[in-house]
Amino acid sequence: MTTKPRVLVLGGGFGGLEALFYLKYQLGDRADLTLVSDEPKFFFKPNTIYIPFGQAPEKFEVDLSRPLKKQSIHFVNSTVESVDPDKHAVITRSGNLNYDYLVIATGAKMRSKEIPGLYEHAITVWTPDDMLRLRDRIAWAKERAAGNNRTRFVFLIPPNNRCSGPLYEMVMMLDTHLRQSGCRDLVDLVYATKEEAYIEAFGPRLNTVVADEFRTRNIEGHTGYVVTGIEPGMISFQNGEKLAYDVLVSFPPYVASTLFEQLPSTERGFIEVENDSRRVRGQDRIFAVGDAANFPIKQAFLALLQGDAAGDHVAAEILGKKPTVDFEPMSMCVMEELNKATFAQVPLKYTGDPDKPVAVDTEDTEHYHVGVSPIWRMGKTVLGLYLPWRFGNGKPFHAGFAWEAMDMGLKVMSKVFAR
Ligand SMILES: Cc1cc2nc3c(=O)[nH]c(=O)nc-3n(C[C@H](O)[C@H](O)[C@H](O)COP(=O)(O)OP(=O)(O)OC[C@H]3O[C@@H](n4cnc5c(N)ncnc54)[C@H](O)[C@@H]3O)c2cc1C
Repeated sequence: MTTKPRVLVLGGGFGGLEALFYLKYQLGDRADLTLVSDEPKFFFKPNTIYIPFGQAPEKFEVDLSRPLKKQSIHFVNSTVESVDPDKHAVITRSGNLNYDYLVIATGAKMRSKEIPGLYEHAITVWTPDDMLRLRDRIAWAKERAAGNNRTRFVFLIPPNNRCSGPLYEMVMMLDTHLRQSGCRDLVDLVYATKEEAYIEAFGPRLNTVVADEFRTRNIEGHTGYVVTGIEPGMISFQNGEKLAYDVLVSFPPYVASTLFEQLPSTERGFIEVENDSRRVRGQDRIFAVGDAANFPIKQAFLALLQGDAAGDHVAAEILGKKPTVDFEPMSMCVMEELNKATFAQVPLKYTGDPDKPVAVDTEDTEHYHVGVSPIWRMGKTVLGLYLPWRFGNGKPFHAGFAWEAMDMGLKVMSKVFAR
């Protein structure tokens, strides 16, 4: 029997692994750590954008057996069904597990069916299989172009999608890919979003960058287009407009992957947490991070920051110290375009408005940086190597000498290649 505090982490994605490895980094052997996940692998979703353009899905997986063994972390490969906070227990398909501290990081899933026709007619961009389907459609459009036939792609962001950036990457990457393949003239690219501005969550500077790119690349863009229904070949919008398509690509509405009925949650199942610590409201010993929690923007980078905050608060309690890491909402992304990339570091602030709880802090000019350059593709490559290397060795993204070196590199690059 162990007398060490038992910490369970649910979900082996960005938020869960960051919290888990941060806890190991802080606590060493002073806690008994267990990961519960329905997948024995970590999946690097952000880089699956390369699958439609030829890369193999397996390239973006990290087998978790080696890092967990190396760090002496237990692994339960099972699906979590619910939590019983009164009994400090997690109910999984293969039995119940008890905890002293719990970090929930079970992520989100797509609910295409809430938009009539989206499930039946759109290719989505969530799983590797979706990305392979898109690869087939691109090959089909290229074949049609070889026979002098036109194809019209429409990229669609519906209401309640929480991470529009990847779809912007896809349309720009497709533009570059088709130009490189010599058939862009015979493919029409259209982008329609419910957002009032392009990549609205990242503020006015990203909107300007995207609007300029769309103009230069001859991509037809529409903002404020709220989809109401989709039929074969035709999309209808709330404003009465219609758009025709041959291939429809969409990033659907988000809901929580797992519903925890015993915990306070939004109507989409996202768990309500305190802003700084990511502690679940009304629960001393339960934390929720990443896409599973109620932060309105869902991003890997934000999931990592939340994982650090939750990990630090749990570790501090176990060590009897004051926590030193709070979640500070600062978004960062590098958007691939295949011939260049856009870097954005975006400070966010809480507004107190329940309809729009988070906004870009445009006055924080010290931290709001945007840059467009081929050199930022290198930044994307480095992040794509660094993170799987850290997780593959059971280490958190944001800690130690390796992170300090990465952070320094990013700061220098954002001074030189971004404003
Ligand atoms: C195509 C694409 C591109 C993206 N690009 C970017 C980008 O450039 N930058 C960025 O910051 N973000 C990007 N994102 C968003 C990012 O991938 C997510 O925000 C991130 O994965 C969230 O991390 P998470 O740990 O909360 O959830 P996930 O990474 O989804 O991990 C959840 C984990 O929980 C497990 N799980 C789920 N339910 C259960 C259950 N009931 N029981 C047990 N285990 C369970 C899952 O198997 C998984 O291991 C992109 C997303 C996509 C789809």
